[in-house]
Amino acid sequence: MTTRRMFIAGATCPRCGAVDRIRLCRDGEREWMDCVACGYESAEPPAAEHPPESAPADTTPGAVKWLPPRAAR
Ligand SMILES: [Zn+2]
Repeated sequence: MTTRRMFIAGATCPRCGAVDRIRLCRDGEREWMDCVACGYESAEPPAAEHPPESAPADTTPGAVKWLPPRAAR
């Protein structure tokens, strides 16, 4: 299985505050985000089409700007 990673333009790391260091990682059906500056990982899928069934309550809205990938390629 190949893990694909792409940077999210304008995204800010919720841990270290670095800009343009957040990557979207995709491995098969799983998606997560990580920060190349501090190693932060978010196990939370950023896609809004998956309704959070047991989302953690401490997520800060607006901390990470999520831009949908350009799937048409
Ligand atoms: Zn970071």
